[in-house]
Amino acid sequence: MRNVIIKCLLCGSFTFGIWTAVFTIYFRNNHVGNQEKIPLKKEDPFIWSLGEKLQEQTFQGSEQIPRPHVSTGSSSKDEIKEQKPILKLRDDFNYLDPELFHGFLKYGLNSIISKRLGSYRDVPDTRDKLCHRKQYPVTLPTASIIICFHNEEFNALMRTVSSVMSLTPHHILEEIILVDDMSEYDDLKEKLDYHLEIFRGKIKIIRNKKREGLIRARLVGASHASGDVLVFLDSHCEVNKVWLEPLLHAIDKDPKMVVCPLIDVIDDMTLEYKPSPVVRGAFNWHLQFKWDLIFSYELNGPEGPTRPIRSPAMVGGIFAINRHYFYELGQYDKGMNLWGGENMEISLRIWMCGGQLLIIPCSRVGHVVKQHITNQTEVAKALAFNSLRVVHVWLDDYKEQFFLRRPDLKSLDYGNISERVELRKRLGCKSFQWYLDTVFPELETAE
Ligand code: UDP
Ligand code: MN
Repeated sequence: MRNVIIKCLLCGSFTFGIWTAVFTIYFRNNHVGNQEKIPLKKEDPFIWSLGEKLQEQTFQGSEQIPRPHVSTGSSSKDEIKEQKPILKLRDDFNYLDPELFHGFLKYGLNSIISKRLGSYRDVPDTRDKLCHRKQYPVTLPTASIIICFHNEEFNALMRTVSSVMSLTPHHILEEIILVDDMSEYDDLKEKLDYHLEIFRGKIKIIRNKKREGLIRARLVGASHASGDVLVFLDSHCEVNKVWLEPLLHAIDKDPKMVVCPLIDVIDDMTLEYKPSPVVRGAFNWHLQFKWDLIFSYELNGPEGPTRPIRSPAMVGGIFAINRHYFYELGQYDKGMNLWGGENMEISLRIWMCGGQLLIIPCSRVGHVVKQHITNQTEVAKALAFNSLRVVHVWLDDYKEQFFLRRPDLKSLDYGNISERVELRKRLGCKSFQWYLDTVFPELETAE
């Protein structure tokens, strides 16, 4: 009898889980459809939507978060509006198609369209017109592109690699390093090796023997790199025209400059490549990342919308850093688990320890806004653990601001942070008060 009851309960919760996921996807798509009719106001911040659902779950009480909307605060508005989408779904698209649903569960994106798009496509040039006039020196530092992946959709990964191969001058591309973080899908093994053969000489593939999580997987990639600059990319990106030169040029001028492209949105449902407005990376007292729109007056200077933007934080997935500086600055916190929080840690460390973090609007890289449906509890646990490490190493007395919002995390374990505290001392880093005063005064008064 007990067995029967247990079986019934298991069966019930499985069915419930499946239906919850179906409705999540269904309502999300209706919701997005409605939301796109609402114009984005200047003061609306928007949280990095990839972690949106997860963050809502992990950090209760967070305010309503609108999804990124394709509008622009810059003068390039009209130019962007004119561009035709590469792909548009028919209105009668069936969201409850089992193959589509299965693809979302497995990959967090529309795998039917991804397969149809295949290994490469052209994406619209989303740069401001003024970027076209920019000249970069022929001799630039070389770059190692590091792409870690775990259970990625095959074509999305291939598009990431082939867009880099097609749109990067080969004399500045030292190599692409792929790190397979213990993926379970068959097509990411021999089939992938076979398809990467055409890029032989420029590609290294490393396969982790156990799943390390994004943070340690990136460190594995970095340890095999020999270029002057490390460029980290997610495994579902497509780079745009002249994407790398502006990043390398900025680092060449100042090796302590850490730079990010402006991240365009590749819609998880339609895989449409959409331009993003000029933004800076910010966060709230929950340590949730969000984008802040740039006011148009900030783009009125001689460089206009091509001006590099000082950014209090980076979203994490895509950035470039001088390789020696990456090590000098203490790489990543190896004590962090799985996913999340590392972007806040490295952002604070860059600013507080003598570097700078900038977004370069003339460099554009598209990134799929993925749905994280599976493993949410595991990831939420890692995010809380990692965030606590950030709080205890970097926030000084301001950690109280975090715990005011998250009293439930006050007594949670965060591992041993002595090495990171030591690093902060060794690098002679400034206080969090300095960071608030100099880099991100808007945070202090935030709710
Ligand atoms: N990733 C990994 N190991 C993990 C989790 C993620 O290598 O345990 C990879 C993942 O395939 C992706 C990158 O790390 O290329 C960032 O993950 P994701 O895109 O899920 O993060 P997000 O963009 O949502 O911040
Ligand atoms: Mn991603």
